[in-house]
Amino acid sequence: MTRFAFDIHATDGKARTGTIRMMRGDIRTPAFMPVGTAATVKAMKMEDVRASGADIILGNTYHLMLRPGAERVARLGGLHKFGGWDRPILTDSGGYQVMSLSDLRKITEEGVTFASHLDGSRHLLSPERSMEIQRLLGSDIVMCFDECPRADQPRDVIARSMEMSMRWARRSRDAFNAGGEHAERAALFGIQQGALDEGLRKASADALTDIGFDGYAIGGLAVGEGQEAMFATLDFAPQQLPADRPRYLMGVGKPDDLVGAVERGVDMFDCVLPTRSGRNGQGFTWNGPVNMRNARHAEDTGPLDERCPCPTCTKYSRAYLHHLHKSGEMLGAMLLTEHNLWFYQQLMAGMRAAIAEGRFAAFAADFRRDYFAR
Ligand SMILES: [Zn+2]
Repeated sequence: MTRFAFDIHATDGKARTGTIRMMRGDIRTPAFMPVGTAATVKAMKMEDVRASGADIILGNTYHLMLRPGAERVARLGGLHKFGGWDRPILTDSGGYQVMSLSDLRKITEEGVTFASHLDGSRHLLSPERSMEIQRLLGSDIVMCFDECPRADQPRDVIARSMEMSMRWARRSRDAFNAGGEHAERAALFGIQQGALDEGLRKASADALTDIGFDGYAIGGLAVGEGQEAMFATLDFAPQQLPADRPRYLMGVGKPDDLVGAVERGVDMFDCVLPTRSGRNGQGFTWNGPVNMRNARHAEDTGPLDERCPCPTCTKYSRAYLHHLHKSGEMLGAMLLTEHNLWFYQQLMAGMRAAIAEGRFAAFAADFRRDYFAR
C-alpha cells in the first residue's frame, strides 16, 4: 500500500490536476475539503458529504482536543470510526484557532499556553503536543504546528514569527517521525509563512524544503488582507514550493478565490464558507451567491441552480428553501448546506476537467462571466 504519492496528470499554465494516493483512498486535485470542525460537517451526514464528491474532509485539532478530547477519541477507535468517515482526514495543527478563538494566550519558544473558550481550562499546544493529538485522532494528513500572525504587522515581527514557525516545523517533523505505526501510514505537511512578503515567503519555503515534507501548505493568507493582496502573494508563493508536491492554500475560500488560486498553481483548499453560508441562508450558484431569505424567492418554483444535479436542486424549489430559512427550520440549513457542498465539488470537478483538456483559461473566463453577471 502506498503511504503517500502525488501524481500530476496534466498542467495548463500554472494550474495542475492530479491524484494524491493514500491508504484510505485517492484525493483528486484540485481538491476542496469540507470542514468537519467537531467530528461533523455541520448539518450533513457523512454519507451525504461523500455523495457530494468530497474525497477528504478536515478536522480541527483545537476543537477536538477540548471536546471530546484527543485521548477519548483514541479510546473510541479514532476520528474515522467515531465520526463515520472512512476516507482520508486532514487535521490542522490547532495553531491558527488557538490564536483566533482562545483566551489568555502566552506564546513562547516552547509553544502556546491558553485558556479554553469553552470552560477556561488551561492547555498547552506545542509542536510535540500537536503531533501527539493529531496521532491520537488518527489523522491521515497531519499539519505542522505554526504561528499565524496578522498580516498587517511590521516586517520584522512577521520575520521573527516565520523563523519560529520554521523551528517548530523541524520539531513537528521530529515528533511526527517518532510516532511509530502512525508515521508509516500518515503524511506530514509543512506550512509556509511570511505574510505578503516575497523574500520571507522564499526563506520559509527553503527552510521547509530543507526539512522535507509530503506536501506544503500556504498559511497566513485569507486573514483579512483581501483578494487582491492574496492573489498578488499567490503570484509567487506556490512556485517557491516544490513542484512535485501538493500545495494547499489553508482556509480559502469563495468560489472565485478557488478559481484564481488554482490558476496560480494551488492544489488543495478548505473553507467553512459553503457549510456556514448554508446555515445562514446563502446559496452559491453558477450565477453568483443568492440569499434565500430574500422575498423575491417566496413564490419561485424553480430550483436554486438550474445547472445543479444535487438532491436539493433536483427536488425542492427556491420558494420552499425560502420558507424553511424564514421559518428557522433546520431542514433549511441541511438542504442549503448540501447544495453548497455539491456546488463546490462541481466547481472543482469542472476545473480538473478543464486543466486535463487544456482549456482552463476559457473555463475561468466563463466562470467569472456567469458568476459576476448581474
Ligand atoms: Zn444544488
